[in-house]
Amino acid sequence: MRVFCLANNKGGVTKTTTTVNLGYGIARAGRRVLVIDTDAQCNTTYSLTGRMDQESTLFDVLINGTKLTEVIMPTQQERLFLAPSSINLSAADLLMASAPGRERKLARALSQVKDFDYILIDTPPNLGVLTVNAFIACTDVVIPIALTTYALIGIGILERTMQELRDNLDVELPIFGVIANLDDHTKLSADVLGAVREHFGDRVFQTVIPRNIKVEEAHNQIACIYDYAPQSTGAKAYTRLVEEVVARAQTG
Ligand code: ADP
Ligand code: MG
Repeated sequence: MRVFCLANNKGGVTKTTTTVNLGYGIARAGRRVLVIDTDAQCNTTYSLTGRMDQESTLFDVLINGTKLTEVIMPTQQERLFLAPSSINLSAADLLMASAPGRERKLARALSQVKDFDYILIDTPPNLGVLTVNAFIACTDVVIPIALTTYALIGIGILERTMQELRDNLDVELPIFGVIANLDDHTKLSADVLGAVREHFGDRVFQTVIPRNIKVEEAHNQIACIYDYAPQSTGAKAYTRLVEEVVARAQTG
């Protein structure tokens, strides 16, 4: 079972879009996938269910001790399941501040879950307690990067945080892959992609996701990009990315 934590401490870098489209794509490729939404903004939850206010959520798991299996729900896509978020999780840092073992609550909850091939954890745009829980629960880190601004500026603190956790909390946190997105085919996009490849080497997937309005439309319409606009540049790029991710997961 591969547990991917999709993390980048910046917002708007396509963590959620990538989580959802990888989730759909890997499920359509025949694997059982669980998406866990740890962001109180609930964008992944909305994208997969059309609602932000599910009855049982990750809040109950992390704060009230409910079993993860009790909040997992099916989606419109066969083999794709969701552990939804709640806006209440915006208070998690405060509510969990003095909880014993607070960094390992998600890992502990996940240890009861066995019947998935892939688990994808979407994270909030900060390095607070929820992101730390996702890091500790994962087997691998996936870093989505937007090619729209000088993307490496914020990465330093992400890497430092990951190193702190490796040093202090006995986790490996390997970087499974870096996904470049929002390619505008401008000189800026090319320059940033070059810098990202230089920094992360072969961890950067060959597939670069272009900026494509169909990707945003699919999200807003609670649709799956591969059904909504199968011929779009976005759907085709995500299809290639899914193939790369699954192939890399099989080779280690
Ligand atoms: P994050 O979760 O990192 O904050 P999102 O996944 O919400 O980022 O993406 C930020 C915005 O960019 C959203 O409005 C999303 O619909 C849009 N977006 C993501 N990927 C693409 C793409 N390939 N083309 C066009 N818009 C995109
Ligand atoms: Mg998001």
